[in-house]
Amino acid sequence: MRALVLRGFGDATVEEVPDPVPGPDEVVVDVACVQPSVTECMLIAGDPVAMHDVLAARLAAGPTRFGGHEFAGVVNGPGPFPPGTRVTAVETAACRACAACRRDRPDACPSPAVLGFTRPGAFAEKVAVPATSLVAVPDGVTASQAAAVQPLAGALHGHAIAEVRPGDSVLILGAGVMGVLHTQVARHGGAGQIIVTGRSPAKRRLALEAGADLVLDAADDVLPAVLDATGGIGADVVFETAGGTPGAGLAGTSTLELAARCVRRGGRIVMVAVLPRRATAPLGLLRERAVALLHPRSGAGGYSPGGGAFEQALRLIRRGDVDVDRLVTHRLDGVDALPKALDITRDKAAHGAAGPAQVTVGPWGWS
Ligand SMILES: [Zn+2]
Repeated sequence: MRALVLRGFGDATVEEVPDPVPGPDEVVVDVACVQPSVTECMLIAGDPVAMHDVLAARLAAGPTRFGGHEFAGVVNGPGPFPPGTRVTAVETAACRACAACRRDRPDACPSPAVLGFTRPGAFAEKVAVPATSLVAVPDGVTASQAAAVQPLAGALHGHAIAEVRPGDSVLILGAGVMGVLHTQVARHGGAGQIIVTGRSPAKRRLALEAGADLVLDAADDVLPAVLDATGGIGADVVFETAGGTPGAGLAGTSTLELAARCVRRGGRIVMVAVLPRRATAPLGLLRERAVALLHPRSGAGGYSPGGGAFEQALRLIRRGDVDVDRLVTHRLDGVDALPKALDITRDKAAHGAAGPAQVTVGPWGWS
């Protein structure tokens, strides 16, 4: 089969590789559609975000398969679902053997298997997946929508850990993929006023369509506008989705400081953005204002080991409660287009993309 092979940072090519051989309790899935995550794009480019050192060590040893955990496909072999079943998968599977796993804390497992990271992912025509990670995709959901379900499940998780109560004011910094998904989840989940910041007019328009009550230009003075809109007290909950590597079109680390000033005293900040390990934080300000700084689990296996959050995300898509199609502006055909999809996703602004560039790898449905 053909698959993406990484020969060095920034050096990804599609090559002929052996077909995956399923291990015990694994299932081979024919990939129908896959999309890169922004984190994968940053890691492939060599940015110093989490897992960078692990990938650097692997590349020092030779070419490696990397990436491809947001995908949908069709079961091709025996397992819990009959061949032909349309599926996606939870990307992180705890080992089930360590002390943490035995104490029912799979999110604390020190050595989980992570699709596309510790084992070959779906940047390929076929992928082997632990049977327990599979999530069936209901009728009425397209391959493109199912490939986009993992970030939506993440937004559901972020909303849950923030304990957004009915009527809570919610500020979402950033109107990229996670910003727009958090906006839709907040609207669906009963938030009160929803304020979103975004840099480009296109992103701000997306945020409005997604259900924001007030959309601010991130280049303007955001703090007074948020205070004005919240009676002077600040937002109950802030989702920080904007920070990260400036080279990947993200806002650096200043947005955490902004979040700390825009949240109300005693409020909650959810750090959706992935920052460098040594990024600075305004700890004194957070302490002074008694703000809780919450971090979502970094793998879906931590908050949804059985795929329940994925099933709920698929349900929201099928009902039309959440629209993920609006984020897919670039669809490429064939596995050989993967390097181009990485380029577009890494610098979405330069390509006029709203979300990741998706690649249609193979047919969807019964085949
Ligand atoms: Zn474990």
